[in-house]
Amino acid sequence: MEDLTATVVGGGIAGLASALMLARAGWRTTVLERQSGSAEVGAGVALPRNGEAALRALGFDDGRIAEIGYETLVTGFRDTRGRRILRIPDDRADVRWGMTAWGVQRRRLHAALRLAAVEAGVKPVLESQVTDVDPGTPGGSRATVTWRSGETEHGAETDLVVGADGMWSAVREAVFPGVRPRYSGSTSWRAIVPDDALDGRLVEFWGPGAEFGAMRVSDSEVYWYGYFRSPEGTVFADEHAAARARFSGWAPGIVNLIEATDPERLMRHDVYHLPGGLPDYVRGRVVMVGDAAHAALPTMGQGAATALEDGVCVGRLIGAPAALGHDLGRAMAEFDAIRRPRCRAIARRAEHIARFGADLGGGWRQVVRNSVLRLVPAQPLARAGGPLMGWTPPPPPGPAPARV
Ligand SMILES: Cc1cc2nc3c(=O)[nH]c(=O)nc-3n(C[C@H](O)[C@H](O)[C@H](O)COP(=O)(O)OP(=O)(O)OC[C@H]3O[C@@H](n4cnc5c(N)ncnc54)[C@H](O)[C@@H]3O)c2cc1C
Repeated sequence: MEDLTATVVGGGIAGLASALMLARAGWRTTVLERQSGSAEVGAGVALPRNGEAALRALGFDDGRIAEIGYETLVTGFRDTRGRRILRIPDDRADVRWGMTAWGVQRRRLHAALRLAAVEAGVKPVLESQVTDVDPGTPGGSRATVTWRSGETEHGAETDLVVGADGMWSAVREAVFPGVRPRYSGSTSWRAIVPDDALDGRLVEFWGPGAEFGAMRVSDSEVYWYGYFRSPEGTVFADEHAAARARFSGWAPGIVNLIEATDPERLMRHDVYHLPGGLPDYVRGRVVMVGDAAHAALPTMGQGAATALEDGVCVGRLIGAPAALGHDLGRAMAEFDAIRRPRCRAIARRAEHIARFGADLGGGWRQVVRNSVLRLVPAQPLARAGGPLMGWTPPPPPGPAPARV
């Protein structure tokens, strides 16, 4: 039998994880990435327990996870002056388990995924911008992908397309026209600062229309983000000065981190999301993953973790069953049925947290929110995150039913 072929559009976290799993399941897998070299920009990410479980399912053992990340704890929220609003206790094993997270430098995660994918046989094709996709039909015509490399247009037929091209997905535009990202109302500075002295646990501060967070991503680096309400497309002549001004008067630790940041390494992006996500994650022979399918607000810190989960599920729910002779259309429907409710629920929770946290206005609202939260017992709240953090990868499929 001829090899099944997969074309993954986008070599970010979701694309590389999907490609790795498909190649391991025996698919001839190509990743089309519009950028040259390392496509990944960004500073750090928090990978909660479910992200760690996904990394393990991708074949990363303890040693490899420790090479790319720093294991630490989520500690809860503080006000702008650093006073605790919600403290998550770290003396109970069950709470500790759910509140453990890995601080990860994004470039390091990306490089590790790329290496694993190439070792599994994935062929990355760089400087290739996908412009169109014809989704084909499972069990019928194959999908067609069109892309440009320089001045040349290419096209190829394929058994499966993975739409992993992020927020401004060309695959989504081709197969779900009209579903577009929306500006969140906030923008975010992010940076990595050399440091070997700070405690390193994830600490988050809420103030009027803003949130600041910091966590260790290696023995010698701390990642911070400063997320705040701002009109879309705002330009600052001096980003570093603007960050200092925006968070001046906040807790001294915050001001020190901004001061310690190399202005050349400070980045800022307006934050978009896809409210409600896509109405389906599959169409024809196309499966949508990562931000292309369900870009959520970053207030849950789940974007990278769900992108990794998607990759595992593309392999376990579509790649492996189809390679064993299961029906491709049914396998894709199963992916949609499992992934869509979970990713929607996470995105909804991220919106609730934003409303109550980073987006909340000043004055009495802050006082009321902080007073109420100080009364909330943190343990049940932390335990409520159990089903989210306790994600387990779907098991590998059994043999296909015999045809009669
Ligand atoms: C401010 C901020 C903070 C965040 N913090 C966190 C956090 O703490 N924890 C967390 O888990 N997540 C966080 N996220 C979210 C996380 O970064 C994303 O959810 C995650 O990177 C999505 O991965 P992806 O592979 O789907 O998309 P991307 O990383 O965007 O990758 C898409 C890839 O597709 C390529 N591409 C795009 N178009 C084409 C095309 N037409 N043809 C070929 N290639 C194409 C791109 O070059 C890119 O390489 C944050 C996001 C923001 C904005």
